[in-house]
Amino acid sequence: MARTGVPEADPNTNNTTTETTAAPVQGKGTVNPGSTSSPTDESPTGTPPTTVAATALATKLGIIAPPALTAPPVVRSAAELLRAQATARTVNPVRRKILSEGGRMIVRPVTDKIVPAAIHYKVPMATGRFGTYLCLAPAACAMCLSGQKPSSSGLVLLYCVDDRDLGVVVFDVDSGPGALGAQLLEVLARPDHLRYILDVSKSGGRYQVLVLKVLEPGTPTDGIDYGDAALRDLIARKAMPTPAQILGTIEILSNQALLLDSPATMQRLRIYHPEIDPATL
Ligand SMILES: [Zn+2]
Repeated sequence: MARTGVPEADPNTNNTTTETTAAPVQGKGTVNPGSTSSPTDESPTGTPPTTVAATALATKLGIIAPPALTAPPVVRSAAELLRAQATARTVNPVRRKILSEGGRMIVRPVTDKIVPAAIHYKVPMATGRFGTYLCLAPAACAMCLSGQKPSSSGLVLLYCVDDRDLGVVVFDVDSGPGALGAQLLEVLARPDHLRYILDVSKSGGRYQVLVLKVLEPGTPTDGIDYGDAALRDLIARKAMPTPAQILGTIEILSNQALLLDSPATMQRLRIYHPEIDPATL
C-alpha cells in the first residue's frame, strides 16, 4: 500500500477507546460569541454562513433537493467576535475537541469547509499555565505586539460518534504531510467524504487518521448509530454551527483582560513597544 496520509484501517484494530477533552472552562473576561439569535451572526447578504455546508449534508442524507450554490461563508474576524460580547453572551452550542496523547476518537465529516484562524498558543499566564487565544489581528493585538507569533490554524466541524455530538477539531495549517491537517484535508477533498467514518488517534505526538468505514447510501448501518438521526435533526432545526460559532470555540480575550492576566505579555509589550500606552490597546 503506497498511499500515505489516510491508510485503510487495520482490520485487527479493535481498540476504539476514545479520549476527548472539551475546551477548558472559560475564565474571567472571556467572550463566547456563539449565538443563534444575534442578527450579526449572519453574513452581509443575510444568508446564514453555513447554508452551503448544511444543505450539502442534507442532500447527501437524502433530505432535500440539491441546493443552488450561494456565496462562500463569511467568517467574522476575532475583533468582530470580541465586539459581539456587548450584544450577546450565550452558550456556544459547539465545543472544541482536543485529542490527548494516546487518545482516540471516532468521527464523521459533516462539511468540507475549513474555518481559518490565527491562534496564539502557549501564552504565559499569571496562573503559571499557558493560554490559547484567538489573535485579534487585524485589530491591535497585544500578543502580536509583544512578539508572540500566532499559528495559522484550520478549524473543522466533525460529528463525534462516541459523544453523539458535533465538535471542532483544530489543526496547524503549516504542518507538513502526515500531520493531522494534511490527513484530514485529504479525506475532506474526496467527493464522498460525508459517508466516511474516521478513526483519529494520537501517539508519540503524531496523529493518524484511518478510514474505519464508508457508509453506503440507502442501506441500514449495521445497527450502529453513526449520527444520521442527530444530523438530520440539526439540519431540520437549522442548528448547524455557524463559522462564527466554530471560531468561538477558541477562547478570546480583550487586550486589557489579556494584559491583566498575563504579566509576561505586559512586560514584553513594554520592552518591544515603549511608545505604546498599554491602556490604549
Ligand atoms: Zn495576535
